[in-house]
Amino acid sequence: MTTAPQTDFSALPLTPATLANLTQLGYTAMTPIQAACLPSALLGKDIIAQAKTGSGKTAAFALALLANLNPRRFAVQTMVLCPTRELADQVTTEIRRLARAEDNIKVVTLCGGVPLRGQFATLEHGAHIVVGTPGRLMDHLERGSLKLDALNTLVLDEADRMLDMGFFEDIVKVAKQCPKERQTLLFSATYPEGIAKLSAQFMKEPITIKVEAQH
Ligand code: ADP
Ligand code: MG
Repeated sequence: MTTAPQTDFSALPLTPATLANLTQLGYTAMTPIQAACLPSALLGKDIIAQAKTGSGKTAAFALALLANLNPRRFAVQTMVLCPTRELADQVTTEIRRLARAEDNIKVVTLCGGVPLRGQFATLEHGAHIVVGTPGRLMDHLERGSLKLDALNTLVLDEADRMLDMGFFEDIVKVAKQCPKERQTLLFSATYPEGIAKLSAQFMKEPITIKVEAQH
């Protein structure tokens, strides 16, 4: 017999302020992917997680990266790669909601299709978390406007869609610029062959978690 995972957020090593914020947001219980991922993610493990759209994957990585974040260190500590600007904006919004219990965590979105100049200025002001599309993040890394020496968590969100869009090489290049000592979390709705190839390139003994669609 297997025991069902604990679904109470208070079973996790989260701060009282974060737990109170989750209650305020109406997050009364963890979704299955959150319950499956968060205990290992909060221990710093690399994870490949597969669950369908709308299952709460953002909080499954956001609560882990926020737990790793030092707000007093004003440098990029997390980078989240997303396939499109719309998805990057959604992730930024959700991270800000989850982070609002902590003081002044700055989350910045960096996507293509908008002038670089404004993004240079934003980055010069500093950020704790950057969320963006692989091409534009690569661009900033090559120009030196984005520095990753303080990075401790790399997230690939909607990895299957990024592969569909031809971002494999950009993702590998971006990952190579991250410090080796870091946690990598990969989220995907499906598990095409490219995901295993991607994780083999830069993940450390990842735990694979799959949550079946609920009926
Ligand atoms: P996915 O990335 O898997 O498509 P999202 O992270 O975008 O899913 O979450 C889908 C919706 O569910 C969002 O509106 C989010 O605020 C909400 N949500 C996530 N986790 C919980 C939870 N534990 N309780 C209530 N609502 C949640
Ligand atoms: Mg998502």
